[in-house]
Amino acid sequence: MLIHIQPPPAPKPFELEGPFDLERCVAALFYASGSQVILEGGMRPDGGVDLLTLHGGRSTVIQCKYWQKAVGVNEVRELLGAKIDFQASDATFVSTSGFTENAELFARRNRLTLIDANQLQTALTRYSQTREFSEAFAYFSRKCPKCGGTLVHRQNAASKEPFWGCSSFAHTGCKHSEPYDRRLLEPRAKAS
Ligand SMILES: [Zn+2]
Repeated sequence: MLIHIQPPPAPKPFELEGPFDLERCVAALFYASGSQVILEGGMRPDGGVDLLTLHGGRSTVIQCKYWQKAVGVNEVRELLGAKIDFQASDATFVSTSGFTENAELFARRNRLTLIDANQLQTALTRYSQTREFSEAFAYFSRKCPKCGGTLVHRQNAASKEPFWGCSSFAHTGCKHSEPYDRRLLEPRAKAS
């Protein structure tokens, strides 16, 4: 008797909806690969990063750019500044496009990790179906209790104070806001 083995269906490319979606996805990727993740939201008035992860005694600062154009050397230089400022062991830049040649040279000289669109898609294909990914993505997706929109990090224009604001503000004028906090997610203890 012939046994037909169906080849597994090709995984669908993961679709990102916007900048905050990228931040949450990268947070969930690092969580799914076993890191403790802190969503910083880039909201320090003196320069920040989007994420901070801790894994095996090493800390990594992460900057994400939801861009069509290549990320240049200035942005990568800022990441090196943040790495020093946070006294982090490593630094990673995630781009939805790519990086200029100068940015790549600078990153190589300074041992910074660059993740471009292709590498991001590979990681998303590998991890986005996992329970850990969904768990972390949901945890970092806060919903507005008034309209059901997503709460995102925003900054008061005058005082520079960060807060969680409703993403529907621009469309519906929903003014719901919540005090800012750093969202932290501990990796669950692995069942042995
Ligand atoms: Zn709202």
